[in-house]
Amino acid sequence: MDYQALAKKYDTPLYVYDFDQIAQNYNAIKSAFKARKSLIAYAVKANSNLSVLRLLANLGAGADCVSIGEVKRALLAGIPNYKIIFSGVGKRDDEIEEAIQKDILFLNIESEAESERIEEIAAKLGKRARISVRVNPDIDPKTHPYISTGLSANKFGVDIDTAKRIYLRAKNSPHLEPVGIHFHIGSQLTDLEPIKEASAKVAELAKALQKIDIDIKFFDVGGGLGIRYKDEETIEPYDYAQAILSTLSGTDMTIVCEPGRFIVGNAGVFLTRVLYEKRNKDKRFIIVDGAMNDLLRPSLYNAYHEIEIAGKSGDESKADVVGPVCESGDFFAKERLLPPTEPGDIVVVKSAGAYGFVMSSNYNTRPRPAEVAVERGEDRLIRERESFEYIIEKEVRFLV
Ligand SMILES: *Cc1c(COP(=O)(O)O)cnc(C)c1O
Repeated sequence: MDYQALAKKYDTPLYVYDFDQIAQNYNAIKSAFKARKSLIAYAVKANSNLSVLRLLANLGAGADCVSIGEVKRALLAGIPNYKIIFSGVGKRDDEIEEAIQKDILFLNIESEAESERIEEIAAKLGKRARISVRVNPDIDPKTHPYISTGLSANKFGVDIDTAKRIYLRAKNSPHLEPVGIHFHIGSQLTDLEPIKEASAKVAELAKALQKIDIDIKFFDVGGGLGIRYKDEETIEPYDYAQAILSTLSGTDMTIVCEPGRFIVGNAGVFLTRVLYEKRNKDKRFIIVDGAMNDLLRPSLYNAYHEIEIAGKSGDESKADVVGPVCESGDFFAKERLLPPTEPGDIVVVKSAGAYGFVMSSNYNTRPRPAEVAVERGEDRLIRERESFEYIIEKEVRFLV
C-alpha cells in the first residue's frame, strides 16, 4: 500500500483500513467453526465505522454491541436484528427497552439485578426478552490486567451458582426466555489453555441446564483472540475453534463468537507526519502531528505498535515518537530504533485497526482523524476529518 500517496491525498493524521484483510480475517474465523452452526458476531466496539460494519454485514456477520448506539450502528449498516447481541455490565433502562423493541437475538445479562430489571421492562412492554447469562468462569487469561475479564476479581459476569439462579428464575418467568450462555475471559488472548478451561466449565453448566429443560441454543464464547503486535505467539483460528468444539460433544448448540481485534486489528494503520526532530541531551524525539487523542493504546496500556518511516531505512538510532499533546503520556513509541527523519516524512503506526479511532477524542481541541478504506486496490474516504466548527457545535450556541 502506498502510504505516502494516501497521506498526500487525505492528509494526516489518518486511519487506513485494508478491507480485503478484514474480509480475510472474518472468513478465517467463520471457516474455523465450519463443523457447526455458528454466528460470528463482530465486536463493534473494536472499530465501529459504518463502512466496516457494512463490509462485515455483507459477509454475513452479526454484531456484539455494548451500547444501544452500537446496536443502532449495526442495524444502520445492514446487520439484521436477529444477528445482534447486546452485552455489557451496565445497561440503562432505555437501552434495554429499545433492544427488546428491536427484537435482537439476545441480551447478555451480567448480574441478578440486571436480570430483574430486564424482566420488569419486558413485562411493561408485554414481551418476552431473549437472554443469555455471562458466566465468569474465574480463570486467569494471562493477558494485560486492564483487558482481563474472566476472574472473579473483575466486574464482569456472574459466578456459576448465581448464573443457575438467574436461569431458574428466567425459566419460570413469562417475560424472560433463556436462550444462550456466555463467557468472555479477556482480550488479546495468546494462550489456548485458559480458553479451553473456561469453555469446558461453561459447557458443563450448559449441559446441566439442558437437563432441567432450559433450552440453551447459543454457546457464546466471547471474543478475545489475540493478534501479533510485535512477536507474540498467537493462536490459530483452527486451534481456537477445535479447543472450544472439543468441550461441546454431545450438544448441538450454535456457536456464537465475538471477535473484535482479530478481525480489524492488523487490517489498519495509523499515518502521521513528522513535524520535526528534537534532541534533549542524548535523547532523540520524533515529533509527529498525531497524538494520544487519535490513538490512545500506547498511553493507556503501554501497548506496542510496530513503527515504520515510509520510504526510509538504515542508520537507525533510538528515538521516542511523540505527539503534540500536553501530557508526558503522549507517545507512540519509546526507545525505538528508527532511521533519521525529515519534516513531512510519513510515520506508519501498524496494527491500529482495533481500539484505535474508536477511542479517539477531541482532547486539546484536536479534530478526530479521517478514515479511509482500501478495497481491491481502490481507496475511498469512510469518515471525514472533523473540523473545528464540528468540535464546538454543541457548545457555541450557549455562549452568552
Ligand atoms: C471487548 C469484547 C469483545 C471483543 O474483544 P476482542 O479482544 O476485541 O476480540 C467480545 N465480547 C465482549 C463481551 C467484549 O466485551
